[in-house]
Amino acid sequence: MIEGSCHCGGVRLKVDAAPATVTECNCSICRRYGVLWAYFSPKQVQIDVISRQTDRYSWDDKSIEFHRCADCGCVTHWTAVDPATERMGINARLLDPQILALARVRHLDGANTEQYLD
Ligand SMILES: [Zn+2]
Repeated sequence: MIEGSCHCGGVRLKVDAAPATVTECNCSICRRYGVLWAYFSPKQVQIDVISRQTDRYSWDDKSIEFHRCADCGCVTHWTAVDPATERMGINARLLDPQILALARVRHLDGANTEQYLD
């Protein structure tokens, strides 16, 4: 089990395996958040919200919601609004740096082509 948390510990993430790759995306929101996304099936991820409910943000077609800790403000994950979606993203920067160091960073051109640049 791989675990991570926001800075204050109010939101904790558990996944069943370390991510082999993480994605740095240059789209208008990801470049501002500065996150590295690790994608999983929601079935592989456990999110424990210890303190207050996460704050959420969605935009454009509002198909996904970005969650952040209501106390310390760290972006923790995104989830699809449609519960049938078999994909979600967690912010791999919340994981142990030694776990993150083993993952290959891929660069997604989310701003334009939606293609990986590497
Ligand atoms: Zn927090």
